[in-house]
Amino acid sequence: MTNIPPLPTYPESLWMQAIEGLPSYSKLQHDIEADVAIVGGGISGITTAYKLTQAGVKVALLEAGKLLHGTTGHTTAKITAQHHLIYDELIKQEGKEKAALYFKANQDARKFMESLIEQQAIECGLQAQDAYVFTNSDEYVQKLQNEMSAYESLGIHGAYLDRIPLNVPAKAAVRMDGQAQFHPLQYMAALVKMTAEAGCHLYEQTTAVDIQEGPQPKVVTADGHSVTCKHIVVCSHFPFYDGHGFFFARMHAERSYALGIKTDQTYPGGMYISAEEPTRSIRSAASSDRTPLLIVGGQNHKTGQGICTINHYEALQAYASQHFNASDIAYRWSAQDLVTGDKIPYIGRITASSPNIYIATGFKKWGMTSGTAAAMLISDLIQEKNNEYEELFAPSRSLSLKTLKNLVVDNFDVAKHLVGGKLEMVRRKPEDLAPDEGSAVTVHGRRAGAYRDKEGKLYVVDTTCTHMGCEVEWNDGERTWDCPCHGSRFSMTGEVMEGPAEKPLKSISLP
Ligand SMILES: Cc1cc2nc3c(=O)[nH]c(=O)nc-3n(C[C@H](O)[C@H](O)[C@H](O)COP(=O)(O)OP(=O)(O)OC[C@H]3O[C@@H](n4cnc5c(N)ncnc54)[C@H](O)[C@@H]3O)c2cc1C
Repeated sequence: MTNIPPLPTYPESLWMQAIEGLPSYSKLQHDIEADVAIVGGGISGITTAYKLTQAGVKVALLEAGKLLHGTTGHTTAKITAQHHLIYDELIKQEGKEKAALYFKANQDARKFMESLIEQQAIECGLQAQDAYVFTNSDEYVQKLQNEMSAYESLGIHGAYLDRIPLNVPAKAAVRMDGQAQFHPLQYMAALVKMTAEAGCHLYEQTTAVDIQEGPQPKVVTADGHSVTCKHIVVCSHFPFYDGHGFFFARMHAERSYALGIKTDQTYPGGMYISAEEPTRSIRSAASSDRTPLLIVGGQNHKTGQGICTINHYEALQAYASQHFNASDIAYRWSAQDLVTGDKIPYIGRITASSPNIYIATGFKKWGMTSGTAAAMLISDLIQEKNNEYEELFAPSRSLSLKTLKNLVVDNFDVAKHLVGGKLEMVRRKPEDLAPDEGSAVTVHGRRAGAYRDKEGKLYVVDTTCTHMGCEVEWNDGERTWDCPCHGSRFSMTGEVMEGPAEKPLKSISLP
């Protein structure tokens, strides 16, 4: 291996430049009324707002930060129903009928996106691509054969292969035909524009902190204002409101990493993901100056449990250099998504007893189609239309034995981090930190978190997560404090970057 190009100093997603021209929306500064309040300005919230405003419904959308700066701005944007290896497992766990519905829901979402892009002539680099899940491990060959049998039994068009078009080692692969890729934020920017033009009221820098349930429910914001409405849709990624759904115990957050690399190699087409760990995800793309790029992603781990995170970028850097002869690494970014116990998203009424509060979450890194399917389902429920996917995705569904086992594992993990984090011996002190370094440290005899910026200024925070009291860990790849229990993330100075936490980490003054 020669001449490995360096990683960019700071993380930046390939997609963000596309929304620099979007207008800024003001924060909510008084109490308002609407038919529907939507919380969260990512693909699920904005697509729901688009669907409802097109149907003449009066919608207000609240976004805690800036629209599209969440996971949707940090995706790899494959539009596919090939959600890794899932169909064999779904058939065994949920039965053939539900597995077929899962496939159809995601195919419908892809087709909805493709026809909207065509009808509205949205320039977002949409390209038809086949999707491949491949393995180079003998252990996974049988799993791929089982997945192919599941495709055949569900009538999914594809093929079983013993090689892939891409120049990476592979012993077997399963191809799903006729999928797609695009530039997610060019697409989303067009949806924001059409939604605003159709009369949706959009608010940024407006954090929802509570819901008062009832026939006329209210969303309450951190500034004490409210939206009174008939329906509330929680699209805040991790639901900011739990409504006795116990979602903190029914999902975990997984982080993964991506590089945008330049290479002279000719790309044979296709979107790829490895079946085995460490995950490798590959697709082509174009940078803002239309230079061809490859996105090389992977290195999944539970949020807050993959320290030291810069190593994950370095692993992708080595892989990209070895297999694609990367001449430049133009972008690096990472993000997280939520995984439910049975791997099926939670979309619909938050609980059976709250008929007018809805959630959309748990997309397992496949939210381009699942987030769109969520918008289609929830907008139908609000308009009292039948939707064949209501039962499949119902957040209040009963859970199988296998799912309950997964939840026990997730919650054991939470308990381990809750207790382990408190007992951990930390020997470093704030004065030990070099410029641009962060670490758990001991202050006043207790565990704390410190970051020293490049100018030498120290920021010290209490590492107790303000969500449920686990100990946050330093993420040196992103320079954030991440919670290993439920995925909350805080800036180096302790401000909330991603929920479920709503309050910042306490800052600590040094003597
Ligand atoms: C590295 C990576 C690669 C991926 N690749 C793919 C892929 O190739 N294909 C695919 O289909 N999917 C992929 N995904 C998954 C997909 O990107 C996500 O599932 C999807 O973007 C989630 O959209 P969302 O609308 O639920 O959340 P987000 O985009 O995170 O939007 C939620 C918004 O809610 C806001 N918010 C949070 N709390 C509050 C509050 N209290 N008040 C107001 N606003 C709030 C946030 O600020 C945020 O803007 C990937 C995910 C990751 C992490």
